[in-house]
Parts: sequence; C-alpha cells; structure tokens
Amino acid sequence: MLVLKFGGTSVGSVENIRKVATIVEGISGPKIVVLSAMSGVTNGLQKISNLLRVENVQEAKAEIELLHHKYKEVVQELYEDNDSFYKANVMISYNINLLLDYAKSDFTENIDKLILAQGELVSTNLFQLYLEEQNLSSALISALDFMQIDAHGEPQLDVIGERLSKVLKTHNKVDIFITQGFICRNKNNEVDNLKRGGSDYTASIIGAVVQANQIQIWTDIDGMHNNDPRFVENTFSIEEISFDEAAELAYFGAKILHPQSIIPAKEKNIPVLLKNTFKPEAKGTLIHTNAKPQNIRAIAAKDNITAIKIKSYRMLMAYGFLKKIFEVFEQHKTSIDMITTSEVAVSLTIDNTTRLDAIVQDLEGFGSIEVDADLSIICIAGDIAQNRKGITASIFKSLEDIPIRMISYGGSNYNLSFLVKTSDKIAVLNLLNNGLFARKPNEQSIQV
Ligand code: ASP
Repeated sequence: MLVLKFGGTSVGSVENIRKVATIVEGISGPKIVVLSAMSGVTNGLQKISNLLRVENVQEAKAEIELLHHKYKEVVQELYEDNDSFYKANVMISYNINLLLDYAKSDFTENIDKLILAQGELVSTNLFQLYLEEQNLSSALISALDFMQIDAHGEPQLDVIGERLSKVLKTHNKVDIFITQGFICRNKNNEVDNLKRGGSDYTASIIGAVVQANQIQIWTDIDGMHNNDPRFVENTFSIEEISFDEAAELAYFGAKILHPQSIIPAKEKNIPVLLKNTFKPEAKGTLIHTNAKPQNIRAIAAKDNITAIKIKSYRMLMAYGFLKKIFEVFEQHKTSIDMITTSEVAVSLTIDNTTRLDAIVQDLEGFGSIEVDADLSIICIAGDIAQNRKGITASIFKSLEDIPIRMISYGGSNYNLSFLVKTSDKIAVLNLLNNGLFARKPNEQSIQV
C-alpha cells in the first residue's frame, strides 16, 4: 500500500486536479490518497469562523458567497459529463447551505471546527467525482470514520489502525482510496482537526497504521532543497536525507513538510518521498533511515524568533535554577527552541510571543531580563557529529562578518543552529551557501 498526499496547490485549480488524477492513475498498486483543501479555502473558512466569532454575520455570509463562487467556477470547468456536473453542484450547494446554517447558529468552538473541516470534505468529493467520471475505480472514505485524537489532541494510532482496516475491507477491488487530510474526531466524537498544515500528519499517521511501503507528499516544489530557494540562487533538491535531519529542517524553517508529520513515519520506519506535482519526473527527496551520511545536508531559516536572556549571579554554582526557569515557560505553555547557558546567564528563544509579557514578569524574580525580537534561527542540518575536519571552521569562516547572538550545537548530532538578526538572514544563507556547498547545482559535494 502507498499513501499519497496532495497539498492545497496541487488541488487548487481545475488544471491541477487533472494533473493529480493523472499522477494517481499512473502509480500502480493500492493507494490511499490524502487531500488538503483547495489552496486558500482553509484560510477563507478560518476568516468566516473568525467573523462569526465576533458576530459579524453579514461579512461572514459575503465570504461564504465568495467561496460558493469559487467552487461553482471549478465545477463548471472540471466535469464534462452532465451527471458528474449535477452531482458536484448538489454537493457544493449542500456544503454552502451547511456553512450558512452555521452562520445562523450561536458560535461555539465546535462550530469553528466544523467550519474548518469543510475545505477537505469538498476537495475530496470533487476529486472522487472526477475520478468516477474518468472511469477509475476509487472509493471515498471519510477520515471522520477513523481519524481519532485523544484528550490531548494526540492521534490514537491503535484505534485509527483498527477502524481504517475495517473501512478498507468494505471495498472490494478498489485500488484508489480517497480521504481527507487534517480532519479527525476528538474524544467527545466531535469533528476536530490536527492543526493547520495537518494533512501531512494525516498521511504519515495513515502510512504508519497501514504499514505502507512508502508515504509520498506531493507539493509544488521538487523536494527539500539544500537552502532556501526564495533567497539563494542555485539551490538544488536533496536526493535523500535521514529522518533526524529532515525533522530538524522541517522544524527550523523548511516549509515543505509539517514538522510533526515525520514522527509516525519515522517510528514505523516508512520512507517518505517528497515530490513535485508540477514536475513529476523530478526525483524529489527521499527521507529514510539509510540515507548516506553527509556532513552538511541543508540550511534553513526560521523567522519571528524572540530571545530572552536571564542574568543572575544567584545562578553561579547553584542547582535547580534551570528547572525554575523552565517551569515558567511550562506554566505559560510556551515552548523553547534554542537554549545556551553560561555560569551567570541563560539565553533562550521562543517563537510564540503571545505570553511574552507574563513570562518576563515571572522571570524577573530570578534576575535581570533582556528581550530581543526580530531574530532568525539559521539551522545547518547534516551528520555534523562526524566532524569531518574543517567543517565547523568553514561555517565560522563563512560568517566572519556577521554578528551572532547565540550558537547551539550538541543537542542533536544533526543540527548546528545560529541566532542572527532577521535583517542579516539573507546574507547569512548566501554566505553559508557559498562557503559550504559547491556552486554548481546538482552537485552535493562540500567545499572543505
Ligand atoms: N487545509 C489545512 C490547512 O490549510 C490542512 C492542510 O492543508 O494541511 O491548514
């Protein structure tokens, strides 16, 4: 069994939906196809929900109308057969009426989740109708019948596996199963979701529970690149990468993959192939356990980082100090990305600043506090621990003119991170690119 996940852009237009169908048809054997909502739709639904939250029903209805218009245009162009066209229109009207009903009811968190779920429900229905029209034998299976999270929002893999296997068994002679990414049921059996960008996670969970041969994540870029192509010229796509390195990159800025999504695949040792819907012939990137080690695999940057420094002479030779600091962050449900310590100070970074003022207030009891905003973490991923002679020297040499606020290495063998001003980020990415990778594209050797 293969699991293929297509993101929002891949199902974002009639032309792209057709491309996805061609890709799915061209891959032999049984497969579960996980789809996101059409690009922009979940944002639109989020906007509708936010408007209803503040009781702005009028504007919410206008947004629903915009969505209806978008769907009608797609349906008009996608189907050639009258029957499919009719069925798709009925489905869309039903969906839009549902949104209008939600707009009339009293807003609750549950309504918010129901609204957000509609994007994936529509995209999968449209796709199933399209495959039917193409005479492909496929079955639409609802993620709401098997995707289950517990009271902490964690997927319940055993339950999901059991339910999914029952659902699959009800369909004979079907090779293509289509289902929704992102949506699930919570412990109260209500419709819920795996958080924004969660469709990758769905694919990885499904891949893990069915012990898939491979999970393929189809996006609009040909795999993970060795550097950020938005800021650096001549980046190239990485052919293979280990789970650990991919996890570091996904967390520290490589937008191609939802960071959490790698975990179930990694735990069950299922290779994940990142592919480009618009360039299916490109090899893409294979994330797997046997990736040949390489000192430096890739560089990524994560913005909107805030650093907090806690300076206290009470820390000198004391124990239990860090515990107290961590407790403050735990209380405020704020996770820490990077941390460095000296005898009298601790510096750490966060990316969620919603509780910053309260955190600073609580930390003031421990010493003097300094806060710096507008920073970026630059993550260098690779098998750095192998420590081939000169690697760290080339990193530091490349950055000799850049002020560095923090350095973190040794937490994981696969990551060396720097904290720099966001205004220096593009320069840093380019300097590291020139210093660490051979200039020629498609050549993954390192210049040391
Ligand atoms: N449609 C959801 C979102 O935009 C989930 C996903 O596409 O991964 O966040």
